[in-house]
Amino acid sequence: MGVLAGRTALVTGASRGIGRGIAERLGRDGARVGVHYGRNEAAAKETVAAIEAAGGSAFAVGVELGLPGDAEALWEEFDRHADGVDILVNNAAIGNSRPIEEIGEPDYDELFAVNVRAPFFIVRHGMRRLRDGGRVVNISSGLARTAVFPHAMAYAMTKGALDVFSRDLSKVLGPRGITVNSVAPGIIDTDNTAEMLHGTEGGWDRAAAISALGRVGETADVADLVAFLASEGGRWVTGSWVDATGGSLT
Ligand code: NAP
Repeated sequence: MGVLAGRTALVTGASRGIGRGIAERLGRDGARVGVHYGRNEAAAKETVAAIEAAGGSAFAVGVELGLPGDAEALWEEFDRHADGVDILVNNAAIGNSRPIEEIGEPDYDELFAVNVRAPFFIVRHGMRRLRDGGRVVNISSGLARTAVFPHAMAYAMTKGALDVFSRDLSKVLGPRGITVNSVAPGIIDTDNTAEMLHGTEGGWDRAAAISALGRVGETADVADLVAFLASEGGRWVTGSWVDATGGSLT
């Protein structure tokens, strides 16, 4: 029996990358996992299959975020599979690394709609489904705390807003024994960073050199931390910004 046996989790953006890593880890720990995706149903099914192959239980929830009514649509879909949630991980997000001169209003609005508005309303409409003693983890970014990549400013701003949401929400949900934290990854090898890491000469080595540990992060580096916060051991950590950058900010 895993430490999360009997718990239900929902991980947004779990078809690929960090979200998939988190979903697989929570599944291994015994949680039944809702694997949310936007457009990539095949990848979500792969995540579900991987969790089941490891002896766990999972189901896919497909809803594109960033559109009006997205959060309610997500919960309607979720409700077809489960009657409540113990662990909610707001992970789905989009990036944008164009300089301020090249960010149009539609780009800005889309970033905030997917990265900030969606998690806000997923929580807002999920509060009655979230069980007492539960966990909310919002996946932020080290870029909310450093100007080392100023061309990612608008993206970093969305993560700053998410961090304020985590901090204040912890006071709202605390009386119910629900913890809320931001987990901030550094550079992790995913589709999101593929161009920088694999498509640019020297990109991998430069990224590795940013971390104090001299390597590029893996999805499991973030997933293991989220699993700790989701576990009983994480019960006294709330309202926190948890650094998962491998020392990239030191
Ligand atoms: P990724 O590989 O690009 O995967 C993104 C995931 O989010 C996919 O499952 C995708 O679903 C989903 N998603 C994206 N836009 C969506 C939308 N509009 N509606 C519904 N689902 C959507 O990303 P990642 O690198 O794993 O990043 C995961 C989280 O970590 C994000 O919050 C990101 O900001 C944060 N982060 C990443 C890094 C890094 O170096 N990778 C560093 C710091 C923070 P589909 O498969 O259906 O498209």
